[in-house]
Amino acid sequence: MSVRILIPTPLRAYAAQQASLQAIGPDVRAVLGELTAKYPALQKHLFDDSGKLRSYVNIYKNEEDIRYLQGQGTALAAGDTVSIVPSVAGGSGVAEELPKLSKEEIRRYSRHLIMPEVTLEGQRKLKAARVLLVGTGGLGSPAALYLAAAGVGTLGLVDFDVVDESNLQRQILHGTGDVGRRKVLSAKDSVLSVNPHVNVVLHEVRLTSENALEILKDYDIVADGTDNFPTRYLVNDACVLLGKPNVYGSIFRFEGQASIFGAPGGPCYRCLYPEPPPPGLVPSCAEGGVLGVLPGMIGILQATEVVKLIMGIGEPLVGRLLLYDALGMTFRTLKLRRNPECPVCGDHPSIKELVDYEAFCGIADEPEEDETALTAVELKARLDKGEKLVLLDVREPHEAAIARIEGSRLIPLNDLPGRVSELDSTDSIVAYCHHGLRSASATAFLRSAGFRKVQNLSGGIDHWAVQVDPNLARY
Ligand SMILES: [Zn+2]
Repeated sequence: MSVRILIPTPLRAYAAQQASLQAIGPDVRAVLGELTAKYPALQKHLFDDSGKLRSYVNIYKNEEDIRYLQGQGTALAAGDTVSIVPSVAGGSGVAEELPKLSKEEIRRYSRHLIMPEVTLEGQRKLKAARVLLVGTGGLGSPAALYLAAAGVGTLGLVDFDVVDESNLQRQILHGTGDVGRRKVLSAKDSVLSVNPHVNVVLHEVRLTSENALEILKDYDIVADGTDNFPTRYLVNDACVLLGKPNVYGSIFRFEGQASIFGAPGGPCYRCLYPEPPPPGLVPSCAEGGVLGVLPGMIGILQATEVVKLIMGIGEPLVGRLLLYDALGMTFRTLKLRRNPECPVCGDHPSIKELVDYEAFCGIADEPEEDETALTAVELKARLDKGEKLVLLDVREPHEAAIARIEGSRLIPLNDLPGRVSELDSTDSIVAYCHHGLRSASATAFLRSAGFRKVQNLSGGIDHWAVQVDPNLARY
């Protein structure tokens, strides 16, 4: 069975400058074996030491990636074409080895194809590209939808969460009917409804030091849409170690940031922020809120940079940090330089493998238990007995306007030191907030100010709404 093997330009130097050759064998393994026997210098470019195909080399049988057939065991018939397609990040793909477009795809992408900067070749690079989105939340949603619409061939989605009602204000991959569903499944449905030609790969796991390299290695580009510091440093370090560009985006309230880290010669996230802020200093979106449209803007900036990287056009956001302010409606770019002393991408890196990112970010395994804390049910029982308790609400007035426990007094945490004289230190006080964190600080403060009988409502008004008063609005 004679088949044709196409050799991409970068590898022709190791194959006597041949662009193609005929080989005979029952399957892909056999013909690649014949190829490397004839040109031994190709061996190390196609396979690692253990004989596995290198992650940045994809093999196609006709128009199909063999990973989705039977791998190297994929059977071949006379007249088949085996293409070796190296990773395209950086835009070095060669047109003739890229996957072809069907008539339907040509119609679908016609507004791309008529642009001289894109053309058929750019569209085929998009189809060959493999992009991993870390997170299918606020940033991952617009990025996934636009990358799918643009024709990115393979989209990997990492998420272990389920859709919550409070996600719908901004996470447009998920709809009202998806509440309670696993996010990756809901995201896959949305992506495929936009473009059924996309190969969606699901990774329903929490990204960890143990699995990150294994997951990221199969992709050309990573788009980081995480919402916490440990994962952000993990994605950064994994991308630097693997040599993958990391298209970064982050959001908070009305402001966003975007950049590309880990590109050759460019800086990484650690060059910008060598260390994370101490836990609690920078609130998350869950604590501090986020304008629903904000991640739309930043996620689309990330998608734009991904598309440019794949096609190798324009000026990528490497070495620049884009700052967006939705209230002022301003964009600023700051220059970023690679730090030669950077522990991961510097000239003498000290980090050569993934570390414990929870520990690096100062996050303890177990939160400290306050033994005097009160559950919502216990509080209800004491109130029902007629016990005289002062309920101290330490949230902000706009939160109290959403829902409050009847009979409580409002003194926001930040005002407490200045208004402590309004409280009587001999009273029994139960402090509460939204989830029990701010009220824990309030409790500690009051104790240090001489209050003896002060307790924290664990889980805050949210637990109260779930366990005691289901009529109360949750937010
Ligand atoms: Zn660095």
